[in-house]
Amino acid sequence: MSSNADIYHEMIVDYSRNPVNYGEIKDHDVTFHDANPLCGDSIDIDMKIDENRVSDIKFHGKGCAICMACSSILTEIAKGKSLDEVRNIGKNDVLSELGLEHLQAVRIKCALLSLKVLKSALYTYLGKHLKDAKDLDKLKDEAANLY
Ligand SMILES: [Zn+2]
Repeated sequence: MSSNADIYHEMIVDYSRNPVNYGEIKDHDVTFHDANPLCGDSIDIDMKIDENRVSDIKFHGKGCAICMACSSILTEIAKGKSLDEVRNIGKNDVLSELGLEHLQAVRIKCALLSLKVLKSALYTYLGKHLKDAKDLDKLKDEAANLY
């Protein structure tokens, strides 16, 4: 029998070879790009938003295995969710899916880059559609202080 660590490792390798939700959405409602220069990870996330729900989400770019795996997991989590639900996606929602809760600090940026991009995309979208600026500032802080 494989240990959990082996299973997680296998999942990460699988996702990095065959990323889920990989690609572009040409007629996206919002897109955001960010990079993790320490590792060379560079990710764009495109989203379609219908009636305050993420109707489609794709990511593209390049990154290490952890970055690609977490981007895949995150887009799977976010797809179909309301914007409020997406906003409440936390670090551990992503990390726990791949057994990465105790990742070294230096790799945490690889794992959470996609979440940072997603939250940044969300505030970019909300900035154009919401009036409550205070709420928006809070969301910007959340994205900026993720790691
Ligand atoms: Zn990386």
